Amino acid sequence: MIARGRFVVDTHIHAQRHAFKFKERGIKPNFATLAEGMPEVEVYDNTPRLLYDMERYHVDLCVIQPAFGMTDELNGEIVKARPDKFVALCEGTDYQQRVRKGEIKWTTEGICEELDRLLATGLYVGIGEGLPRDRTRRKPHAWEERFDEICEIMKIARKYKVPVGYHTGALSGYGGARRELGLGLDSNEWGNPLLAHDIATEFPDVPIIMQHGGMQGWWSEKFMDDTFQVAAAHANVYLETGLYWGELYEKPLRDPNIGVEKLVFGTDWGASIPQQWVPGVRPGSYADQGRGQGLPAHQVDYFGWCLRQLARAANLYDLPQDDLNLILGGNAVRVFRLEDKVPLKRLFKQYMK
Ligand SMILES: [Zn+2]
Repeated sequence: MIARGRFVVDTHIHAQRHAFKFKERGIKPNFATLAEGMPEVEVYDNTPRLLYDMERYHVDLCVIQPAFGMTDELNGEIVKARPDKFVALCEGTDYQQRVRKGEIKWTTEGICEELDRLLATGLYVGIGEGLPRDRTRRKPHAWEERFDEICEIMKIARKYKVPVGYHTGALSGYGGARRELGLGLDSNEWGNPLLAHDIATEFPDVPIIMQHGGMQGWWSEKFMDDTFQVAAAHANVYLETGLYWGELYEKPLRDPNIGVEKLVFGTDWGASIPQQWVPGVRPGSYADQGRGQGLPAHQVDYFGWCLRQLARAANLYDLPQDDLNLILGGNAVRVFRLEDKVPLKRLFKQYMK
């Protein structure tokens, strides 16, 4: 059984797919290659597969975001082609690519100008996935300095009244975890969810979505409680439940300072994190790369697993349908201001005061 709702929004989608061309390059497909982040990876529009899955699983609208190698430009084209099905976040991918190629030097002003330009087009509804950072940097980045940079990016989000989203937590099998967490290199808001306290306090008017809500994969819940602590402390911090197994919904649902109104459904559709299966224990299945399995060539089915886990949670805790509808779409509509995408008014829980 999968979770069904009146209007389902998946807030974490990658609609572009990498064509690594391992064979043509004479490279063995493995995690080490991915961990280094292939500099010249080709991407293509993967919406035929996405639209197929949306239809199968009754997902009405997707919030598309770039990941490494993917471009804001192509996401903008995808949104223009199907504005009824897609909206997108931007991350200044073109600017970041030029920095990576050594054509320009990273500056906070430069990336902010690029985000300003992208948001001014009206094609994008927020900043993500992640607050842009200089990925060529090899020197330690003290949080005080990184926080100053983040504040400039947040000012752009404030100017356009849009939310920002960034990852919390990391995978294990995937060799990129170290880079994601910034261990030994810098203080990284991805690896330390508590740093979001500073951002949320400074920008109480800008919604912050903690993508994956501390569970980007693996069986360990180590990042989750920190993420919950931030979400409970600030009205503007939301948790995206991408890759939660059923029982993980319990803590945020029970916390009176979090609850259904701060949970937004998301997956990571378009990424290549398959589900691992360990029957007979909890969790029986969870998302992670298997080092022994190799890279998945198939389109991993995120909607099926994530919606099944949400249905399990709804049944375990006997969640009222109007509350489930908020997690599945109502909260995303409010946070991303997507009211004009919903066919009718008053579909989501609202009481007269
Ligand atoms: Zn993602």
